[in-house]
Amino acid sequence: MADSCFAESYEEARGKFLAAAAEAGAEVVTLPVTEDAEGKYFMDIAVLTPSPSSTPTALAVVSSGTHGVEGYAGSAIQIDLLRRWKAGGCVPSHVTTVLVHAVNPYGMAHFRRFNENNVDLNRNCLQPDQFEKLKEDRIASIYGSFDPLFNPTEEPGVFYRNVGVWFRMAYYVASYGIGYIKTAMVAATYSQEKGIFYGGKKLEKSHVLLRDFFQRFAEVEARKVAWVDVHTGLGPTGVDVLLGSGKDYPKLQELFPKIAGESDGPQNSFGLTVDEVLKRRCGEGAELEMNGAHFSASQSAGYEFSVGILSSDWVTTFFAKNSGQVLQVAQEFGTLGNLSVARALMLENYGWNHDRQNHDFWRTYTRDAFYVRTGDWKARVLRRGDEVFRKLSAAIPSA
Ligand SMILES: [Zn+2]
Repeated sequence: MADSCFAESYEEARGKFLAAAAEAGAEVVTLPVTEDAEGKYFMDIAVLTPSPSSTPTALAVVSSGTHGVEGYAGSAIQIDLLRRWKAGGCVPSHVTTVLVHAVNPYGMAHFRRFNENNVDLNRNCLQPDQFEKLKEDRIASIYGSFDPLFNPTEEPGVFYRNVGVWFRMAYYVASYGIGYIKTAMVAATYSQEKGIFYGGKKLEKSHVLLRDFFQRFAEVEARKVAWVDVHTGLGPTGVDVLLGSGKDYPKLQELFPKIAGESDGPQNSFGLTVDEVLKRRCGEGAELEMNGAHFSASQSAGYEFSVGILSSDWVTTFFAKNSGQVLQVAQEFGTLGNLSVARALMLENYGWNHDRQNHDFWRTYTRDAFYVRTGDWKARVLRRGDEVFRKLSAAIPSA
């Protein structure tokens, strides 16, 4: 039953994950990330080695909750995998499995996409010199021009939330085009600290913990690592899409053909390295280039200027030097339409920054926009989660 792998709260999800990990015989590493008056928040990592004494040489990784509230899908995929573990056959015999539960546990617990410092962890995977470079970000002014829409500072009243916001978004869409707004949003800001899609100024604690944890696998060759980071919120309801590195596109196309109504397959989103994108963002003519860009309607559209993604570029640095690239994908499950998701982010972020005592109300918008609590959606998540994990694991070279 799909439903039993899902949870209604972070604590419930964590409890199910830990119980299933114990049952599967996994080693569990618990990393405290942060705490507040309501509780403590942990990243829990389950490791399943082919045999207890063997040295890991190949890894299949599933991470969940990089975007907090989106973690309920990835958590369920991990719990489902652990519950089936003893029956066998989940991964090839030479592969060690690593399940990272709740990269952003604070966001998962509070149904928000961003973390305890309002940072979007999927824009924060950057090296110190790259954060430095972003001080010269030339497209900050484009995000800034949408600031009144993205980041209201006065309480959005009931009329605005249900009627006004749609007219306002329609006005911006008519004036600028949806692709342009989406790009301005997903390219993220590195200066508006209270904004949606704020990438931060330094590597956040969650990522420091994650990177340091993977030190134990520092000898593993990157080419023998497959990594799925599970997300929600992009694309048609219950349909997944795989966003990976441009160089893996042919391989991903072969592994994951489109299935109408089920999967939109791989989309080639990250063709450039982080430094190349930074050059575009911080170089002469960045604004002009963005203004002139053509924006399509696909899920991956608009990410041309995004950096700091938990991508192949980033996780490859965890493993042996000059040993190839990690085969990494973000598996995105569709929930609601783009504008509904955007509205939810704006409203929840207003509440968290300006009306914390009523955040329980504001966060229902993001919960409902990123977590579709129907039997059909949940069953699709588990089905495709398993499919993608199994195929990626099977693609890891044995020698
Ligand atoms: Zn996400």
